[in-house]
Amino acid sequence: MNAMFRFIKRITSDFLNLLYPTPCLGCDSLLGDNEKFLCTTCRINLPETGQHFEPYDRNHLNKFAGKTPIQFLASYLYFTKGGIVQKLIHSIKYKDQKEAATEIAGWYGHQLKLESGQLNDIDVIIGVPLHSSRALQRGYNQADFIAAGLSKALNVITRTDILRRIEFKQSQTNKNRLERWENVKSVFAVSKPEMIKDLNVMLVDDVLTTGATLESCAVELINAGCKSVSILTLAVTK
Ligand SMILES: [Zn+2]
Repeated sequence: MNAMFRFIKRITSDFLNLLYPTPCLGCDSLLGDNEKFLCTTCRINLPETGQHFEPYDRNHLNKFAGKTPIQFLASYLYFTKGGIVQKLIHSIKYKDQKEAATEIAGWYGHQLKLESGQLNDIDVIIGVPLHSSRALQRGYNQADFIAAGLSKALNVITRTDILRRIEFKQSQTNKNRLERWENVKSVFAVSKPEMIKDLNVMLVDDVLTTGATLESCAVELINAGCKSVSILTLAVTK
């Protein structure tokens, strides 16, 4: 009887694992019925920056100070080596977890809606485009999936046909820092400037590190005639 009980229990457990085999993207423990992408423990322990809180601290804009006028900048989470966020971003970028990008950006979007008045006038959300060879290889651009989550939560449209990345074949190896910067600066272009004219644009990416990529996108958008550029990222390096 005991053997039969153990057998049934094992079959039931195997069956449940078959039905719900999804591991947490932060710690690999199996997710419960009400958990999505992250277990409750990982979600509670997410290192949120709180950068969007009012009164808005303009020190966040230091990365862009004196170069490009950015209206508002905030990142959801702190990215640290070996931490949950690094694991999460890796899954989003390289392990096809694009829906996790949308879901988690949605969590952030709801917070922003409740806790920040800075984004009330945003007209359109645009993800930083991927190099097309990388997009082809990966099959998706994670920034577009982050944009989709924010779009739904903030009820603002998102567009993927405005900003594009120009292919550049020049090697970076023999260039000094300034030349490399110039090289990065030249790789984005706005396809349909009339679609963003006088609009408040929100630019979105996965991780903010030096800000060079985001800044070169912002410059193109501003030159194309948009009213303002704000930047949101899922994570920021400390
Ligand atoms: Zn977890």
